[in-house]
Amino acid sequence: MDRCHDLQVDLWINNCDISTKNYTDVYDPGRLTDRIGRAPVASVEDVDRAVQAAHQAFLRWRKLETKERIAQVMSAAGVLKASIAELAPLLVSEHGGLLREANMDFMAGYNYLEKYSGVVAEFMEAEQSEDDISWISIEKIPKGVVVAIVPWNMPVVLTMMKLAPALMTGNTIVVKPSPNAPLALTLLLKRMSACLPDGVINVVHGDEETGTALTRHELVKKVAFTGGSKTGKKVMNQAAASFKAVTLELGGNDPAILLDDVNLEEIMPRLLRGIFTRTGQVCYAVKRLYVPEKLCSTFIDSICDHINEFKVGHGLDERASLGPVNNASQLAFLCSLVENARSVGCKVYELGTMLEPENWSNGYYIRPHVVLDRDHTSQLVGCEQFGPVIPITPYRTLEEALTYANASEYGLASSVWSGDFDRAVEVAREIEAGLTFINTHGLGSSVFGMPFGGIKSSGIGRESSVAPTLSAYTDYHALRYLK
Ligand code: NAD
Repeated sequence: MDRCHDLQVDLWINNCDISTKNYTDVYDPGRLTDRIGRAPVASVEDVDRAVQAAHQAFLRWRKLETKERIAQVMSAAGVLKASIAELAPLLVSEHGGLLREANMDFMAGYNYLEKYSGVVAEFMEAEQSEDDISWISIEKIPKGVVVAIVPWNMPVVLTMMKLAPALMTGNTIVVKPSPNAPLALTLLLKRMSACLPDGVINVVHGDEETGTALTRHELVKKVAFTGGSKTGKKVMNQAAASFKAVTLELGGNDPAILLDDVNLEEIMPRLLRGIFTRTGQVCYAVKRLYVPEKLCSTFIDSICDHINEFKVGHGLDERASLGPVNNASQLAFLCSLVENARSVGCKVYELGTMLEPENWSNGYYIRPHVVLDRDHTSQLVGCEQFGPVIPITPYRTLEEALTYANASEYGLASSVWSGDFDRAVEVAREIEAGLTFINTHGLGSSVFGMPFGGIKSSGIGRESSVAPTLSAYTDYHALRYLK
C-alpha cells in the first residue's frame, strides 16, 4: 500500500498556485513516520492578496444571473464527484478516519451543492409590489468576500456547506483549511476553481495567525466558521471590529437519554454509530449517555459486547472499524480523561482489538473506552472529549435525566431513545439544544432543510437549510419609487 504521497500544496489565489516563505509538514496520524506532504503558512500579506483577489472577482461574479452562477458551481460539483476515488485516500492519510468515512465526506459535500442548486434561485427572487402611490422592490444582494474556516474532521462537507450558499448567492470565497488536513481539500478546491472565473474560490493556509488576519480583514464581509468553541469566541471578537456577519458552528457535548421502554438490541447499531463514527470525532456525536438505573448493568454488558468487536487500525486498512485520532494533543487529552476517571474510582472498560499492534506507537491510536461515571459533574461528562471514550451516567427519574442533560455549556445536538413516540417527543422538547433526534443521533441524522447549529457555546446561526442559511449570506436591499 503506497501511503507516502509527499506532495506540496501552495496558496491558491486568482486560479494560480502562489508559493510563500514558510511551509509545514503534514504527517499521517495512523503512521507518523510517513510524511504525507507540505502545506504553506500564509503571511498577512498573502492573506491580503487572497482577499483582494476575491473582492475583485466579487465585483463581476455578483452581476451574473443567479441561474448562471448555479450552473457554473454545479459544473464544479461534477469535478468534486469525479475526484472522490483519487482524493479520499489522501484525506484518510492526513486526518486519520476510515476510507468509507472520507468517501462520505466528499459525497456529503456534493449533496450539499446539489441541494442548494435547487433552492437558491427562488430564494434570490425579488418581492415586488405596487399601489397607487408607489412601487416597492425588496431585493437580496450578496455580502461580498466570505471567509470559510474549517476544522480537520470533515473538511470537505464542512467547506461545501459554506461554499454552496456563498457562491450561488453571489459572494466569492477565501477558504482556510485546517493545518491538520490541508492537502486533499486544497487539491479539490483547485480543481473546482477551474470551472469558475479567477478569484471566485481562493485558498490560504496557516493556523491562528492566518485565521486572525482573515477574520480582521476590512474587505471580508462574512465569516463562516466551524471549529472549537474557544476559537469561535476569538473569531467573533476579531470579526467585531468591522461588524462582519458571523456563523459559528462550534463544539458540542451531546447528551443521549435512553428511556426505560427502549429496546436495547434494536437501537444498539444506531447508537454505536452515533458514538463512534470517525472515532468519536464528530461535533454532533453522542458524547454522554444517560441510562435508567434499573437498565444500567444490562445496558453496559450489551454495549461492551458490541464494542469489543471493534478493530482499531489505519484508516486504509479495510478491517478497521475505528481509525486513529487526528493529533497528539487530542490523544493526550483522551488518555488524561481515562486516567482521571480511573483515579476517582469510575469503572473503566477498555475494549476492542488493535490491528497491527507493532504500529500502535507510530500513530495516535486509542482503543474504545466505556466509563461508568455516576458523577454527572465529572470532567469526562462535562467536557467535549472528541474521541472514543464514552461516559454512561445512570439516572433515577426523567426530571433528573433532563437536569443532567441540560447542565452543560453546550447545546448542539441531543437525542432521546424510546419505543414510545409520544413520550419521546415530550422529553425531546425539554432538551436545550439546536437539534434533538429520536432513536438516531450523529452523522446522517440531520437532513438538508433541518437548520443545523447550536445554542449556548455551540454557536450562532444555522447551516444546511434554506432561509436561515441563505439569509446569512445575503443582505436586503429595499427600493421604493414614489409616483
Ligand atoms: P479549532 O477551533 O482548533 O480549529 C478550527 C479552525 O480554526 C482551524 O482551521 C484553525 O486553523 C482555525 N483557527 C485557529 N485559531 C484561529 C483564530 N484565532 N482565528 C481564526 N481561525 C482560527 O478546531 P479543530 O480542533 O480543528 O476541530 C475540532 C472542533 O471543531 C471540535 O470542537 C468540534 O466539535 C468542532 N466542530 C464543530 C462542528 C459544527 O458543525 N458545530 C463541525 C465539526 C467540528
